[in-house]
Amino acid sequence: MALDDYTRARERMVEDQLVQRGINDPLILDAMRRVPRHLFVDAAEQDQAYEDHPLPIGEGQTISQPYMIALMASAAQLAEGEHVLEIGTGSGYLTAILAEQGVQVCSIELSPQLAQRAQSVLNHLGYQDVVVHVGDGTLGWPTAAPFDAIIIGAAAPGIPRPLLAQLRLGGRLVAPMGEEDLQTLVRIWKERSGLREEYFGECRFVKLRGEHGWET
Ligand code: SAH
Repeated sequence: MALDDYTRARERMVEDQLVQRGINDPLILDAMRRVPRHLFVDAAEQDQAYEDHPLPIGEGQTISQPYMIALMASAAQLAEGEHVLEIGTGSGYLTAILAEQGVQVCSIELSPQLAQRAQSVLNHLGYQDVVVHVGDGTLGWPTAAPFDAIIIGAAAPGIPRPLLAQLRLGGRLVAPMGEEDLQTLVRIWKERSGLREEYFGECRFVKLRGEHGWET
């Protein structure tokens, strides 16, 4: 596909998959219009990059469906300058969408191969402030805490305890939570009176591994 075709495919993706399904935050829609999603997948998959489904990215992992990326980014309700922890960098695509919101992103990926590839695509596209760390994201990143928002890009059996401790009061954690084969996208607000949960519908993500995930 030529560059123009990718730009058009991106426009169509935003209209048909996001706007029509109720995503209306202009900052998220603009970010999804700008970020070249096809560069976050292998050459063989590039022509499918703007279709309405997840795609394989190697190591048995996937880049989420565009709508799911938009839903997670809007559920996080980010404000410029905020400090965000992302767990499960994968391809780095959501990372780029977050960086486009003018926030500082610290991202953790368990697979060194995926982390390295994501970091190099992000650098190539000019997201110089994003740091991708290799490690178990269920432990968070204590030296950079507290975070205004934490986004987990893999299915969690429950909230990893260390992450709650690294979320500031008034902060929110967004994650797919539930069973191994079906989850609900949840937003949890950390409030003085306790945790408040909101639900954004069913979803299917690859498993969160690690000490506070499904398996190590
Ligand atoms: N949002 C990503 C998709 C993430 S797929 C994108 O846009 O491409 C989920 C990722 O979480 C996978 O890459 C997987 O390796 C990673 N992962 C799973 N468990 C993890 C853990 N404990 N810490 C960090 N990353 C983890």
